[in-house]
Amino acid sequence: MDAREALKIYFGYDSFKPGQEDIIGSVLAGRDVLAIMPTGAGKSVCYQVPAMLLPGITVVISPLISLMQDQVKALKAAGIRAGYINSSLTEAQIARVYAQARQGAYKLLYVAPERLESYDFTSFAAQAEISMVTVDEAHCISQWGQDFRPSYLKIVAFIEALRIRPVVSAFTATATEEVKNDISCVLKLQNPKTVVTGFDRENLWFDVQAMKQKDNYVLDFVKKHPDDSGIIYCATRKNVDALHALLQGAGVPAARYHAGMTPEDRKKNQDDFIYDRTPVIVATNAFGMGIDKSNVRYVLHYNMPQSMENYYQEAGRAGRDGAPSRCILLFSAQDIMINRFLLEHKNFTDVAEEDIELIKARDAKRLQVMEGYCRTSGCLRNYILSYFGEKRDAPCGSCGNCQREFTQIDMTEDAKQVINCVYETKGRYGLNILLGTLLGANRARLKELGTTEYRTYGVLKNRSEAELRTLIGQLLLDGYLVQTADRYSVIRMGNIEPLRQPDTRVTILTYKEKEAERQGTKQSRRSTDVLTKAGYELFDLLRKLRLAVAKEEAVPPYIIFSDKTLIDMSAKAPQNRDAMLRVSGVGEIKFDKYGERFIDAIVGFLKDRPNAVTSIADPEAGGAEMERSAKKAKKVPFYLNPEDVERFRYHDLYSVMEIKDELNRISSADNVKLLFGTDIFRFLSSVGYVEEKRINGRQVQLCTEKGISKGIVSADRISKTGTVYQILMYPPTVQKEIVAHYASLNGADAQPQIVRKDVDK
Ligand code: ADP
Ligand code: MG
Repeated sequence: MDAREALKIYFGYDSFKPGQEDIIGSVLAGRDVLAIMPTGAGKSVCYQVPAMLLPGITVVISPLISLMQDQVKALKAAGIRAGYINSSLTEAQIARVYAQARQGAYKLLYVAPERLESYDFTSFAAQAEISMVTVDEAHCISQWGQDFRPSYLKIVAFIEALRIRPVVSAFTATATEEVKNDISCVLKLQNPKTVVTGFDRENLWFDVQAMKQKDNYVLDFVKKHPDDSGIIYCATRKNVDALHALLQGAGVPAARYHAGMTPEDRKKNQDDFIYDRTPVIVATNAFGMGIDKSNVRYVLHYNMPQSMENYYQEAGRAGRDGAPSRCILLFSAQDIMINRFLLEHKNFTDVAEEDIELIKARDAKRLQVMEGYCRTSGCLRNYILSYFGEKRDAPCGSCGNCQREFTQIDMTEDAKQVINCVYETKGRYGLNILLGTLLGANRARLKELGTTEYRTYGVLKNRSEAELRTLIGQLLLDGYLVQTADRYSVIRMGNIEPLRQPDTRVTILTYKEKEAERQGTKQSRRSTDVLTKAGYELFDLLRKLRLAVAKEEAVPPYIIFSDKTLIDMSAKAPQNRDAMLRVSGVGEIKFDKYGERFIDAIVGFLKDRPNAVTSIADPEAGGAEMERSAKKAKKVPFYLNPEDVERFRYHDLYSVMEIKDELNRISSADNVKLLFGTDIFRFLSSVGYVEEKRINGRQVQLCTEKGISKGIVSADRISKTGTVYQILMYPPTVQKEIVAHYASLNGADAQPQIVRKDVDK
């Protein structure tokens, strides 16, 4: 058996991911390896495959108990003999593991680093044939990182004490030079083959949302994705508890996790999440290291983390299985205040005097980078990658910022007025008084305080409150103003010197979502979007079967099959062994265990619905081809069946987006593509009700004379950032015409007049 065969038989994959083949080849040739690959890149396979091919046993050093248990469960499910030794086992159980290991029962043995010093282990190791020592999460060896584990320093002594030096392979997702050097030196790697793969995670969609109403956003998001598993990170335990209570109060099953809870509670909550009993977990950054759950579909950050290293690691827990997943950071100026405050008051006992300044400077720099990420209008993915030393030429086109059109507004004169107003308050009042005064609000409280007598009272009354909020946020960030971090936070004068220079400008950025994207292309793409409606139903069925099997075997569902595998399975709908083995992630061993049950489920599903052809399995298509082959599924442009028409709920005035949602909801056709707002807009413009024009360099949708006579009106909406924009609203008569149009496109012989462009790209 060679590496490729092992990959196919045990793991069900047809091809290696970047870096894997190189690493495996080196190890098999007897050369040490240092592999730096991002989360989800498939590091485990890099030592598991060689472990199967090398004689004797591979010892894997891994920092966390939960991580070991999961890995061993996953290996067993794939038919690989593996065991672990850690403090969760009783003495008797440990003795049994040693006995088995001596008899050669395992190809892989996972141990915690502390164990390496124990007499039992060293005497076992002295006699065993150890072909490779693998150090997983190798950055734990570096004192630079936050995950430093002193016991990792003992690994090298253990290796040196062995009769024959085995190959040593080390794996980490941390890319910094310091960490890389530490690993190489401390582990005394010999002429290691160093493999660094790109840090981009193509399946992750990044976004930053600047806002105050974070609770509403989170609640709304979670409710919109009830079937998805997600992590919500908060900066403090207090935030975790509050948000958790909010979600539970709203009927969302959520777990929580932070260091203030008992170990039992933490374990239970973590398991509930991993075993898909609760889809959502709200947690501090104490949660996550060693969570290999592959089907985390989103990671929300309720607060801004203190560094990009932290952010990328936490966000990177989404989408390990390679299916599209979202990483959204909710950001407010408050976050920056809090973080600055925390850094200013950081406890430096135990730190050498000369290091304090160094650490402070480093922390401040990291925070600045993070702030930059939250404020940039450039490509978010490129921002991250360039921080980690990877340069890109073009924006990625698939992050939040790439899908927005930014406009810069010069507010220098307004800024000066705000500062004048703060001057007049003598720094005694908070944001609300400031806003009320500048806007000239008619409030009793302002009269009481006397701000209605200020020269700045009402000077900015032609601005909207939202704009002023953004502006003040910007002035705080720029340091022209400062906000105290206590409970009755007031706004004071900062350093306004730079503003006295004639060419200093204060600008704020506002944006609107680009039309095509807002109507739902990449950003709202979900991993299951490659499926037809029937395919999705099959996916749902298979998911239930997976949960049942997982329960029987007491393992997390993703260990049976990953989401990505189930999606591929639903697209290919295999009804026999050969076809099933062509599904990415189904190897022979897993087939023998679970294949028949899944085939039965698929056959049963198709019997009830003979026409629900999802996609013909493409014999040429390997694992990597999955999405493309699934997309070849025979989807036709959207149409309505006659009986659907009656289910449309008419409304006084609907926006295009609302009509689109309603149409997608009522369609009973199995094989149609999702309808997008742009489709409807194109129809409306083909009948002459609306038109698109370029005004001031922006595409604007307008209503024609004919449209006005049909009762189409335009209404103001306010975006999350406070920009006012207009959208068109359609009365029931027009809604009826749209419904009739899609009903007329009914069926296979339909001549679709409305061709959607680019959406599948
Ligand atoms: P890492 O340890 O680098 O974060 P994992 O080893 O946990 O990543 O692998 C992440 C996911 O990628 C797993 O679901 C794994 O099964 C999958 N995977 C690994 N190698 C391949 C491959 N060659 N083809 C497809 N999927 C793979
Ligand atoms: Mg790993």
